Amino acid sequence: MEIFRAPRVTLLARPEFLEPEHLRVEWRGEASPGERLAEYAGRLCYMSQHNPAQRTTAEYLENIKKQGHGSVLEHSVYVLLIEGISRSCSHELVRHRAGFGYSQISQRYVDESHAAFVMPPAIVGDATLEAEWEQQVAAAQAAYVRAVAGLMERHAGIADKVHRRKMAREAARSVLPNATEVKIVVSGNARAWRTMLELRTSEGAELEIRGMAIACLRVLQREAPALFCDFEVYVADDRHDAARVAYHKV
Ligand SMILES: Cc1cc2nc3c(=O)[nH]c(=O)nc-3n(C[C@H](O)[C@H](O)[C@H](O)COP(=O)(O)OP(=O)(O)OC[C@H]3O[C@@H](n4cnc5c(N)ncnc54)[C@H](O)[C@@H]3O)c2cc1C
Repeated sequence: MEIFRAPRVTLLARPEFLEPEHLRVEWRGEASPGERLAEYAGRLCYMSQHNPAQRTTAEYLENIKKQGHGSVLEHSVYVLLIEGISRSCSHELVRHRAGFGYSQISQRYVDESHAAFVMPPAIVGDATLEAEWEQQVAAAQAAYVRAVAGLMERHAGIADKVHRRKMAREAARSVLPNATEVKIVVSGNARAWRTMLELRTSEGAELEIRGMAIACLRVLQREAPALFCDFEVYVADDRHDAARVAYHKV
């Protein structure tokens, strides 16, 4: 039985910026295409492509965040593959609607007989609690396997095997725990990511989604520092990472 103790976050896609020949910006400083795209959109609003204040992209976007002119950040979309999170964590994640798109593993089509499970961070490191938890999820998985077999037999009269398997799995999944591992592709624009990260990296967030949000933040900060650098990661009193943000919900 595979057990995840931390999420895995991989960048799947980033913006590609194609600057038009006829309307160029006087760039200053290095920047990624997603950062340039946001600056480009912001400068178009005031036709300030000649960069009168001679700002670098980082300085320009810092001012955008300070002014709360967050709509220009919506042009830059980042797609992450998130693995090693539980079904309960993904349920919390998909509550973030504005600016996000999701594609999540289907428990109706995918056989969960060998599914992995995600250990809650509060349990990790305590040998007794870990052993008890492992026993419980293993028992649930065994019940799932038995239920699928029983349902396949019960509905043997259904000729279409794919349909029969789907019927068996969709009913049997009801015995799987919240801890069942999920893989999910998440597309979000930079403004949407910022709003989600602000809520879910804070100390008030549930520990697992907090760990997931911190992992997403690290990937996004590496990819587009000017869009996400005002988040500061620190170790909270509960000894887990949390983050605070300088510019609230831009
Ligand atoms: C610590 C914590 C505890 C939580 N506990 C619970 C709980 O017990 N039960 C529960 O059900 N949920 C709970 N939630 C989820 C929470 O209620 C939100 O669903 C989730 O945080 C997504 O936030 P959002 O709606 O702002 O995000 P999004 O849907 O991404 O929206 C982003 C922003 O867009 C705007 N917006 C989006 N949709 C609309 C709209 N229809 N009308 C007007 N403005 C809109 C709002 O400004 C909103 O903040 C919890 C969240 C957190 C962080």
